[in-house]
Amino acid sequence: MGERRYWNEAMETIDAGRLWRLEDERLRWQLRWVWERSSFYRRKFSEAGIDPLAIGRDSLDELPFTTKDEVRRSQEEEPPLGGHACVPLSEVLRVHASSGTTGRPTLVGITSADAMMWNEVLARFFWSTGVRPGTRAWVAVSMGWYIAGLSFYDALQHMHATVLPSSNTEAARTFTVLQQTGVDFMVSSPSFVSYLTNFARERLGLDPGMLGLKAMALGGEPGAGLPEIRQQIEETWRCKVYDAMGTADFVPVMWSECEFQAGMHFLGQGAVIVEFIDPATGKPLEPEEGALAELVYTAIQRECVPLIRFRIGDLVRIEGVETCECGRTGIRIRCVGRVDDMFIVQGVNVFPSAVADVIASFKPRTTGEFQIRLPASGTRVDPPVPILVECGPEAGDLEELKRALQETIRMKLIFRADVKLVPQGELAPTGAMKRKVVVRGDA
Ligand SMILES: [Zn+2]
Repeated sequence: MGERRYWNEAMETIDAGRLWRLEDERLRWQLRWVWERSSFYRRKFSEAGIDPLAIGRDSLDELPFTTKDEVRRSQEEEPPLGGHACVPLSEVLRVHASSGTTGRPTLVGITSADAMMWNEVLARFFWSTGVRPGTRAWVAVSMGWYIAGLSFYDALQHMHATVLPSSNTEAARTFTVLQQTGVDFMVSSPSFVSYLTNFARERLGLDPGMLGLKAMALGGEPGAGLPEIRQQIEETWRCKVYDAMGTADFVPVMWSECEFQAGMHFLGQGAVIVEFIDPATGKPLEPEEGALAELVYTAIQRECVPLIRFRIGDLVRIEGVETCECGRTGIRIRCVGRVDDMFIVQGVNVFPSAVADVIASFKPRTTGEFQIRLPASGTRVDPPVPILVECGPEAGDLEELKRALQETIRMKLIFRADVKLVPQGELAPTGAMKRKVVVRGDA
C-alpha cells in the first residue's frame, strides 16, 4: 500500500489556475533571459516592435512565432548553436545533433540545469508508464548524437531504475543479455521494434513475447498510438505499449500515456507552455475534446537554447481536457502527424500514419511496411497516389490483395491509391530509429 502514483504529484495534478500563475512567473523569467542573452530574439522582438519584458502568460500570443527555418538559419549565421543560444559553448554540458532534413544537422545544447529539468520531466514520463526504482529498463534507442538515448539513460538512472543500455546495436548480444538479466520495460521507436521483432524471429528463432516485458514506451514517430499497430506490437511482445512524444528542441519526451491510455498527457508542467493553434490561421484555439490543432511550444525553464512560441509542425487531436482517471490534469492528445508530411488529394488531407494503420490491418497478408511516392514538391497530389506495399508471409492472391488494399484506402481514407506490391524484405526496417515512409521525386 501507499505506492506513489506519480513522480511529481504537485506538478502532474496541478490545477489550471495554479499552473497559469506558475507559467506566468517562469515565462517572465525566460523572456528576460532571452532578451539579455540571445542576439536572435533581441533582433526578432525589436523588429516586431515588442517589449518582451511587458509580456506575461495572458499576453503570450502577442509574440511572433519562431519557425524551424529561423532556427536553422540562426545556427548557420552564428555557429555552432545559433543566435538563439543564451550561453557560451563552454557552459554546455552536452551537445546533441538531429539528422536535419537538409543534410546539415541541427544542434541542441543543454546546461546542467537543463539536464536536471529533462530528468524531471522524463521521470514523470517513465513513471506514468510503470517504471519504478529497480525496474529493469532496456534503452533500445541510439545513444550518440540522437537526443533520446543519453537523456533516457540519465533520467532512468536518476529515478534508480536498473538500466540495460543496449542502444540500437548488437541485437544478437542484446537478446542474449536480456535473457540473462530479465527485463521489465523497454523504451524505443516503432521502427526499431519492428526491426527487433524480425531479428528475434528470423535470425535467432526467438519469440519476443518470451522476454517477459511488462511494458514498452515508443516515440520518435507515430505508431504506438495507432490502434492496429499498437495491438500487433502488444500481441507480439505480450506487453502494454505506451505512446510517447517530445522534441529535441524542448524535452525529448513531454507527452505520454498513463495506464488508462486515453491519449498522451502533457507532462512538461513548469518547463514548457503548450498552446494550441488553428493550423490554417495560426490563431490560438481553446482546447476542446475532439478538436484538431497544431502545437506551439514556449520554453519557460531553459538556459541554453530556449525557443519562444515555436511552431513545431505537429498536428494533434485533443482527446481529453478533464482530469484523467489516473488523477493527472495534463491535457491529453493523440498525434495526427507532421504538417510537413501531410498531403492533399482532391481536397482530402492525408497523413502517412493513417495509411500505416490501414496497411497494418492487412497483416499477415502484408508486413505493414510501405512507402508513399509523392511528387518532388507541393502538398497537392493528383490521384491515384502510388504506394509500395510489402507482401507478408501469407500474402495470398496478389491481384486480390492489391484490390482489397486500394478499396480499403478509398473507403477509410477517401483517396485513390495505386498499390504496387513488392516482395517481403524490400522495405524491411534496417535498424534505424525512424522509417522513411514518404519518398519525394522519381525515386
Ligand atoms: Zn491518465
